[in-house]
Amino acid sequence: MSRIRSKDTKPEMLVRRLVNSMGYRYRLHRKDLPGKPDLVYGPRRKIVEVRGCYWHAHLRYDPTCWEARSEAKSNKGYWGPKMDRNVERDQKNLTLLEQVGWQVLVVWECELRDMAAVKERVSAFLSNP
Ligand SMILES: [Zn+2]
Repeated sequence: MSRIRSKDTKPEMLVRRLVNSMGYRYRLHRKDLPGKPDLVYGPRRKIVEVRGCYWHAHLRYDPTCWEARSEAKSNKGYWGPKMDRNVERDQKNLTLLEQVGWQVLVVWECELRDMAAVKERVSAFLSNP
């Protein structure tokens, strides 16, 4: 596997631009929070997490994700222990954040095909106290 996980992935950039356009000011990758979440909106204790479908195993949550499926086919490791650890880590971080009062919205890479729908979800999430 030669792919490298990157902080400033394209899906994340798309969501950052979207949230910027809504006028919210957020912090990025706060190191003092579990998992260094992507977009952190402090005033309402909200977090928007952008997940790449392959590395975060979207197919395991949603069997209709074609984004992850196409790559999973060509990579046997997808259903293996390395991916188990990725999934476990994501879930652990989510639980830790919620335990200390953060609300987390997960946006998957494949959802970004419909930016209007993502915008609606993110907007509803952030505007609700
Ligand atoms: Zn997906």
